[in-house]
Amino acid sequence: LLQLFRPLDMLGWVYRTIRQGLIDMADMFNLLDTEAEVDDAPGAPAIVVRRPTVTFEDVSFGYEPDRQILHRLSFEAPAGATVALVGPSGAGKSTIGRLLFRFYDPWDGRICVDGQNIADVTQESLRRQIGIVPQDSVLFNDTIGYNIAYGQDDPSSGDIQRAAADAAILPFITALPHGFDTEVGERGLKLSGGEKQRVAIARTLLKNPPILLLDEATSALDSRTEQDILATLKRVSANRTTIAIAHRLSTISDADIINVMEAGRIVESGSHGELLRRDGLYAEMWNRQQSETEEEREAAE
Ligand code: ATP
Repeated sequence: LLQLFRPLDMLGWVYRTIRQGLIDMADMFNLLDTEAEVDDAPGAPAIVVRRPTVTFEDVSFGYEPDRQILHRLSFEAPAGATVALVGPSGAGKSTIGRLLFRFYDPWDGRICVDGQNIADVTQESLRRQIGIVPQDSVLFNDTIGYNIAYGQDDPSSGDIQRAAADAAILPFITALPHGFDTEVGERGLKLSGGEKQRVAIARTLLKNPPILLLDEATSALDSRTEQDILATLKRVSANRTTIAIAHRLSTISDADIINVMEAGRIVESGSHGELLRRDGLYAEMWNRQQSETEEEREAAE
């Protein structure tokens, strides 16, 4: 009988691994638009993360051989810090996220988490360490509870409730006639952009990863919702290493380190105050966004 069960066990493991992979793939929808192209090294061990420091060391990369996107790029996200990546569209911000998740291997250089080269460990163990809150969350046509629990093996209802509370969506759910059993998605209740993002945050909290990858939405939520979500994300990212990809600088001005990217290189790095004093690209982007906000405010009045 045991012999019969072992392959079944194995199947269960394969199923869970693939399922986890799929969710992460779905979550990476905006960070990724092609299939993963890397294999685990034979006999690769699982990554062991005690201090979730993330380092990019002289990383060069391109999607196609004749078009280099990242040029010997280096930066560190110290354990527990929030590091922002900002810069013009196409600078390579999301590419950094895809490489950290190891959907591709760099041409040159290395990416380490807690001193271990991510190319030397299993992808599954690496991806378990990284939670993603994507630009637009994918919801499944199922209950809201299922959507929060998705990807975890039998979380208790207490865990699900706690994750929903920490993502500040519990009051919304408990006010629904069917609570966590409410059907959402195309055939069920339509959730707003902010609510969907909170479901994604709750799903990430349940996973409880030491590293967070935040990919800010390009389409703005209304400013009150955005402020609420930002406050929630701030709580969620405390005590985790957070890499935040941002378009609006106001959302990351209090990051510990802001890396300003241009054409695949980090051209400036520092805190918000330091970068403003430097009066370079960041200061220029900041001033431009401030005056745009000012114009929008005036137009709204
Ligand atoms: P945005 O702020 O607009 O999201 P970004 O800084 O995140 O931009 P990336 O998405 O990292 O930029 O893209 C960097 C460059 O890589 C772009 O020129 C883009 O065209 C190219 N690129 C992105 N994904 C692929 C892909 N799958 N295949 C080929 N080229 C790609």
